[in-house]
Amino acid sequence: MRPFLYGLKYVIDHQLLRKTRPLIRGLVLTNRCNLRCRHCRLATRGQKDLSFEEIRVAIDSFYQEGGRCLYLQGGEPFVWHDRQYRLDDVVDYAHGLGFLTVVIYTNGTLPIHTSADTVFISVDGLRTTHDALRGKTFDRIMGNIRDSAHSSLYINCTINNYNKDEIGEFCEYVDSIDNIRGIFFYFHTPYYGRDELYIEPDERRRILHRMLDYTRHYRILNSRAGLKSALRNQWKRPLGICSVYEKGAVYECCRYSGDPDLCQHCGYLSYAEIDQTLKMKPSAIYNALKYF
Ligand code: SF4
Repeated sequence: MRPFLYGLKYVIDHQLLRKTRPLIRGLVLTNRCNLRCRHCRLATRGQKDLSFEEIRVAIDSFYQEGGRCLYLQGGEPFVWHDRQYRLDDVVDYAHGLGFLTVVIYTNGTLPIHTSADTVFISVDGLRTTHDALRGKTFDRIMGNIRDSAHSSLYINCTINNYNKDEIGEFCEYVDSIDNIRGIFFYFHTPYYGRDELYIEPDERRRILHRMLDYTRHYRILNSRAGLKSALRNQWKRPLGICSVYEKGAVYECCRYSGDPDLCQHCGYLSYAEIDQTLKMKPSAIYNALKYF
């Protein structure tokens, strides 16, 4: 109930009273990762892991700014540790301080046991496609999902040129897994240039039209309002109420902000959802409530 009331007040403050408070902070615990995915170069950024003390200071500071929603990310956050501290010590610290929702973004290759409120697991298509993009990990991830007792697990899937033709089949497969509550879709963002994964705007629009139809059949977490906003490619960006903290620096929206051309081709659709939720679009509000 508290997250719901917080969300409601946030939307009213933002939309009607024009108050701008930070909403979400992603905390990069480490850029280390146990995988080498085709689309990702975060492991090469070179920063050292955050210490537990640095994490506490960063969490305290965001709380003081008014933030109540924390996203723990990497690299792979489950590989992070500092002396006796593990990922769940960070989750517990944030909860203890008063954070209303703590979310983990993971590649799912390590056991998914956590007291975080929600876990998003990256799976980029059916077995052959996913393994081609992320290394041979599909079966291990599915095993970890089956073995997890967590009640709020979602799939994150980034659509690219390799998996774009199997989205329907993938939705059907994910719907058959009982302890997955839904899929959130992104599009590949060309952080490192328009590579072979990048989907051109016309094609992207065709896919979005198909996805609008899929929302009627499958457990897709993107709302119809969010997908329509993606079709128009017109959600607010960079989205200043969301930020990422990485080793001493806070980035508005994402770690690659400051490049208008990149933002124009951004595929980070969760920000389209937030934008539509703040505009009080019913389908976006309804979907946000599912995991917030
Ligand atoms: S690419 Fe731009 S719009 Fe997309 S997440 Fe990064 S800063 Fe935000």
